[in-house]
Amino acid sequence: MTLFTHRPPAATRPLVVRTRAELAEARATLDDGDVAVVMTMGALHEGHRELIRQAAQRARHVVVTIFLNPLQFGPGEDLSRYPRTVDDDVELCAREGVDVVFTPTPDVVYPDGDPGVRVSAGPLGDVLEGRSRPGHFDGVLTVVGKLIHLTRPHAVYYGQKDAQQLLLIRRMVRDLDFGVEVVAVPTVREDDGLALSSRNVYLTASDRESALALSRALRAGADAASEGPSAVRRAARQVLVEEPLAMVDYLVLVHPTTLEDVPEWYRGEALLAVAARVGTTRLIDNQPLLVGPGGGPLAASGGQR
Ligand code: AMP
Repeated sequence: MTLFTHRPPAATRPLVVRTRAELAEARATLDDGDVAVVMTMGALHEGHRELIRQAAQRARHVVVTIFLNPLQFGPGEDLSRYPRTVDDDVELCAREGVDVVFTPTPDVVYPDGDPGVRVSAGPLGDVLEGRSRPGHFDGVLTVVGKLIHLTRPHAVYYGQKDAQQLLLIRRMVRDLDFGVEVVAVPTVREDDGLALSSRNVYLTASDRESALALSRALRAGADAASEGPSAVRRAARQVLVEEPLAMVDYLVLVHPTTLEDVPEWYRGEALLAVAARVGTTRLIDNQPLLVGPGGGPLAASGGQR
């Protein structure tokens, strides 16, 4: 049986555009249908590919942005060593039938230098990742807002892998009336459980072994979900304690929309999230859960959309 899709196989390369004028021209040719945008920092992997595939299944046109946003990197973070693989990234986009790849430089996105006016993530941006990376989410939301304005999508696709980012983008879109659909895509993992990340290339073989403790801890927590919050936390913590080379920044079981620790009586959707440094690399991972009777892992927090 041949599965019919409305997207023809990629016979042509995507249009690769770098300036605002080129993007505007390319975007104008996509006005015959809906446009989904997948925003990335490049070094594309199977996780990004899954976002692109899901976008392509539902939207007539797909735009991928590749932009290493200096605004979301703090001093001493890995902006200068972040992997850059643009040619391979464009190849991947070509194979997936992407229409347009927007790869601007910082002076294209921020023509007047660092923007004086920025989107504030508010209190949800100060916890978890935000506590370790002050200003990070203001930088993320500012660039996401700008890229939404520049690409004018009907839908934007984000990975559950970055759960706090996904939540904050949903909030920004709702609180500031961006009028775009936000679609969540479950985390893509290696067979052994490691969540795919562009930063995994920094891991040595032995770092990688230690890094597996993160996903193992999340699985252990998920397995205890029917027993309540403290059982989840205890099971996950136990796995991490056994891997001293994973330097844990936080391990939390929080409400998926307030990011507040859930109390012991809580039953319902929760997010088990972890951040740890392994070698020189800071890794994050999370698992949406249903806590309580019949509990266990969920694909993505707040459903798929
Ligand atoms: P990044 O290039 O790391 O900024 O990621 C771009 C998008 O891909 C974000 O929406 C991420 O959440 C998503 N993403 C990154 N890794 C994964 C993964 N392993 N599974 C699903 N989505 C991912």
